[in-house]
Amino acid sequence: MNCREFTEFLHEYLFGNLPAEERAEFDKHLAECPWCVAYLDSYRKTVQLEQAAFAAPEDAPPPGDAPEELVQAILRARPRSS
Ligand SMILES: [Zn+2]
Repeated sequence: MNCREFTEFLHEYLFGNLPAEERAEFDKHLAECPWCVAYLDSYRKTVQLEQAAFAAPEDAPPPGDAPEELVQAILRARPRSS
C-alpha cells in the first residue's frame, strides 16, 4: 500500500467498512509512514468536529420545554379575550 491508496480508503478504514486483510495493510503502512499517521489524525479530528456540529441541535432543549411555573405565569399575565 502507498500513501495515495491510504488516503483513498481512509474513510472506509475509520468507519470499519474494510475487510480484515485491508485493515492489516493499513496498519502496516501506518507503522512505517509518519505522514499518513498525521493525516489519519487530522482526518479523524475533522470527522469528529463535523459530527459534533451535526449533533449540536439535538442537544439543545426542545422549544416547548419551558418550566411549568413560567408557563403558568405567562398564562396568568395574558389578557383574557372573553
Ligand atoms: Zn503513507
